[in-house]
Amino acid sequence: MITNDKGLLLVISGPSGTGKGTVCKRLLEKNENIFLSVSATTRKPREGEIDGVSYHFYDEDKFKNLIAKNQFIEWAAFCDNYYGTPKAPVEENINKGKDVLLEIEIEGAMKVRSKYPEGVYIFLFPPNIETLADRLRGRGTETEDVIAKRLERAKQELEMCTKYNYYVVNDDLEKAVQEIEAIIVAEKARKERNKVNFN
Ligand code: ADP
Ligand code: 5GP
Repeated sequence: MITNDKGLLLVISGPSGTGKGTVCKRLLEKNENIFLSVSATTRKPREGEIDGVSYHFYDEDKFKNLIAKNQFIEWAAFCDNYYGTPKAPVEENINKGKDVLLEIEIEGAMKVRSKYPEGVYIFLFPPNIETLADRLRGRGTETEDVIAKRLERAKQELEMCTKYNYYVVNDDLEKAVQEIEAIIVAEKARKERNKVNFN
């Protein structure tokens, strides 16, 4: 009686160190229907990151070539590196009925929103600024110089939160994940996303 063939486009942003990667990983473990978009970046891999899984790690020439070929939904420069969302996997998976998750920074998210206004835009907050700095340092993957740049950028990013549809605080991880799951359930029930057949 009710049909909804398309998956949701879910976009999660928030300052570096908020826990976006951690929250997305847990969401994927719990929800088989979610497809995580693998971004491209010119950043160097961190220890443990796998090419093609964590990111597609490209040099600047290759990245710029893909921009020229219109292969990205969006791309942005973030703290001296480029990041971009490959277009084809996102569209293929949404059309297959999968919910597609983009974990991207705000400038890119706003470009996605202009192309996909039907997407669901979630801003993930840290409990407070001190915790954000502690998490960024605690992760141990960046130099103090890069951490300072990311914290500076965090202040600008927090001011952009009003551009998003939903706010979630990542204090307790499981609670944050449950709130995002609740958003997904509610968004899927929206009348605009469902066709009704009375026959
Ligand atoms: P982001 O992807 O937003 O940059 P990460 O997912 O890498 O952030 O998380 C940054 C650090 O904070 C990691 O060391 C991670 O283990 C930790 N972390 C993430 N979520 C929580 C949480 N809810 N409680 C405590 N620590 C967390
Ligand atoms: P990191 O270097 O910590 O992995 O990512 C830095 C920032 O880039 C994070 O805010 C992350 O969400 C964002 N990011 C990752 N992939 C993309 C992408 O494809 N596009 C954009 N615009 N930002 C991205």
